[in-house]
Amino acid sequence: MEIRIGQGYDVHAIAMGLPMYLAGVQIEESAMGFVAHSDGDVAIHALCDALLGAAAMGDIGKHFPDTSDEWSGIDSKILLRKVMEMLSAGGWKVINADITIALQAPKVRPYIDTMRATLAPILGVGTDCVSIKATTSEQLGFVGRGEGCQVWAVVLIQR
Ligand code: MG
Repeated sequence: MEIRIGQGYDVHAIAMGLPMYLAGVQIEESAMGFVAHSDGDVAIHALCDALLGAAAMGDIGKHFPDTSDEWSGIDSKILLRKVMEMLSAGGWKVINADITIALQAPKVRPYIDTMRATLAPILGVGTDCVSIKATTSEQLGFVGRGEGCQVWAVVLIQR
């Protein structure tokens, strides 16, 4: 059996009047959202890059360029499904994923179980194999000033 690790990282700026999507879930209480070509789901983008990185299949910008109208405003869960199709074609299965979201507000914690339940079936694993952790940056830097959201993702895959 072959086992690979992959890591992904993404940042999106925050702006007023946009819907906020994180890890496949809309954060209804937020009047702000992420500026992006897609729906701005920064957590799914980091996860896609971790998966593609583990399989050495490039990155999300290579497969879904932000210059293409095809991906404009797209639900990032669709991008994640496409990435999973690419990995499956290579014989890869996900073992587990661990995601860290740095966002000053709103609090992500109340949404974590819904996020795990949303991502797990797309990844083809149980919810116990999908970890999502939330942190602030203690008011420091662009995250702390509420200007953006930063996400790190790590995955293991096997074939
Ligand atoms: Mg992105």
